[in-house]
Amino acid sequence: MTVDLLVRDAHVYVDRGWEVAGGWVAIKGNRVHAIGKAGEEPEAKRTISARGRLVTPGLINAHHHMYQNLTRSYAPVTNGTLFEWLTGLYPLWADLDEESVYLSTYIAMAELLMGGCTTSMDHMYVHPKPFLIDAQFRASTDIGFRFYATRGSMTRSVEDGGLPPKSVVQDEETILADSVRLVEKYHDASAGSMTRLALAPCSLFSVTERIMSESARLAEKYDLRLHTHLAEDPQEDVYCAEVYGCTPTEYFERVGWASKRSWVAHYIYPSDEEIGRLAHAGVCTAQCPCSNMLIGGGAADAMGLRARGMPVGLGCDGSASTDHASMWLEARTALLLGRFRNGPNSMSARDALDIATRGGAACLGWEDEIGHLRPGACADLVIWEMSDIALAGAHTDPVEAWLRCGPATAGTTIVNGKVLVENSRPTMAGLNDVLREHATHARRIQRLAA
Ligand SMILES: [Zn+2]
Repeated sequence: MTVDLLVRDAHVYVDRGWEVAGGWVAIKGNRVHAIGKAGEEPEAKRTISARGRLVTPGLINAHHHMYQNLTRSYAPVTNGTLFEWLTGLYPLWADLDEESVYLSTYIAMAELLMGGCTTSMDHMYVHPKPFLIDAQFRASTDIGFRFYATRGSMTRSVEDGGLPPKSVVQDEETILADSVRLVEKYHDASAGSMTRLALAPCSLFSVTERIMSESARLAEKYDLRLHTHLAEDPQEDVYCAEVYGCTPTEYFERVGWASKRSWVAHYIYPSDEEIGRLAHAGVCTAQCPCSNMLIGGGAADAMGLRARGMPVGLGCDGSASTDHASMWLEARTALLLGRFRNGPNSMSARDALDIATRGGAACLGWEDEIGHLRPGACADLVIWEMSDIALAGAHTDPVEAWLRCGPATAGTTIVNGKVLVENSRPTMAGLNDVLREHATHARRIQRLAA
């Protein structure tokens, strides 16, 4: 049998507990067809030699705000707290439109691909104009990226005690009607899907109780996943105590979100009992190591949550709080953070890789097809490029070397059987035009002279 693509002579990390030294991955159509050892390679229409390289499943990004790359490292707010940073940027984000969201999504996906990410969610919760998520789906389809959009929302502006200006929030009916419209138009639950959608009110303090509970009801009706920020900041505890008379986790449970459908971003400040309850309910967490450290608050104990039975994935978080979107860097930072917190025996590079692949797939409820390279999986994989200078002397463990020596970038990224990064550069012909237009929109939004 002739396969379409053969990646050979690699150290193949197939899945947790399954690696093949000097191995190969055969792809047929958009699926992993087989994995094997040297000497057993099938005939292939195209062969890529990955000699001396590590091949892994594509990394999965479980939390992002792609539009924020229009305001990266925006000087007036770089040293603010989370809430200062948000209130400084909301007035700028009020100028988002379909074109700027298309461009920022396109750039975000190109950047993710270069960092070895093949599937990403996006949490798009600022809606100064309609049809912004439609623009995101256009960008993902133009690129061929596997995209899990989320319909984010906010109802509470400054006038109702919230943080954002009125122009970026929406009323309940608009949010719910648009959620249904987007689900019916774009959510493809079929095997190998390239476009899915979850419901994602921004946070407990930015939407009404009705939006939380109606989102959970819609998720049941349409069989969708649910996402939100939870326990990201200690001020959330104060807010929930005053407004709802309970903790953030108790409120999360009260509005019907403590279920297998939900994954949450951050989850830094719950009590021990609360972690146990949400783990038992099947909730997953996306840890965002770089964002948490730059904001200077706490961070979830990823290995601790896993030990309690809660799946943990990784997110690069919004481009304006993290200012980069490399999932390799997030995996490395997760490793540093875990060992800094719990000691050198607490976490290995394989744990970090498992979190970045299997953990992300669990967050998205997609473990059957992505986050591993078992035969039948989606053909989403990365051949990693590492500096020969940085790797000099690393001869004993290619997975540890990948995360410890670095910096690693994707030499080749394959999504759905198609090569989207080659020689460490995205293959999309339109990228330079998009970069130029992105710069124009970023300057407009930041009120800078053209
Ligand atoms: Zn976020």
